[in-house]
Amino acid sequence: MKIICVGRNYGKHALELGNAIPKEPVLFMKPDSALMRQRDKFYIPDFSEDVHYEAEVVFRIDQIGKRIQSKFAPKYFSQISLGIDFTARDVQSELKSKGLPWEKAKAFDQSAVVGKWLDKKELNLSDLDFELKKNGETVQKGNTSDMLFPIDDLIEHISGYFTLKIGDLIFSGTPEGVGKVESNDHLEGYIAGEKVLNLQVR
Ligand code: ZN
Repeated sequence: MKIICVGRNYGKHALELGNAIPKEPVLFMKPDSALMRQRDKFYIPDFSEDVHYEAEVVFRIDQIGKRIQSKFAPKYFSQISLGIDFTARDVQSELKSKGLPWEKAKAFDQSAVVGKWLDKKELNLSDLDFELKKNGETVQKGNTSDMLFPIDDLIEHISGYFTLKIGDLIFSGTPEGVGKVESNDHLEGYIAGEKVLNLQVR
């Protein structure tokens, strides 16, 4: 299983980090060891002073495929959820400034959290609200209609490079409002008003 993440897929988030709006999807990956298994407690790693939450809609691949055309992409997933792409922003900034790969900042143990799975049939994927609350206050609010590259186009693009396998996860990018987590923060994630994620930071 692999986790494919999309960077800068919401224009306002790209700009808040001082990045240009991309012309094609920005992709990076996390290994299966990055997936948080127990889903309720996130431990801030000791190598970073500035770990950020990034709330993202996550798609779970349930059919193997490569070079998938976007019009066939909906056949390749049936479940979605809200996830957090935890990012050691200080480490990432250092790596970015040197033109080095991001893995230490993005792919560390427990850096990928996924909430409860929802059946996509019950949701309008092209106009889906999602939200992250920190300590009861909304910190990120997004809608999939603001994606620069919608999910079907992402699947076409991704599968042109990497064969998609059953269980692979696609983190589809974060909207603006990313920020730091501190010990004892409480994070709650919602999709279309339904709470799917509940996380304590330690
Ligand atoms: Zn992200």
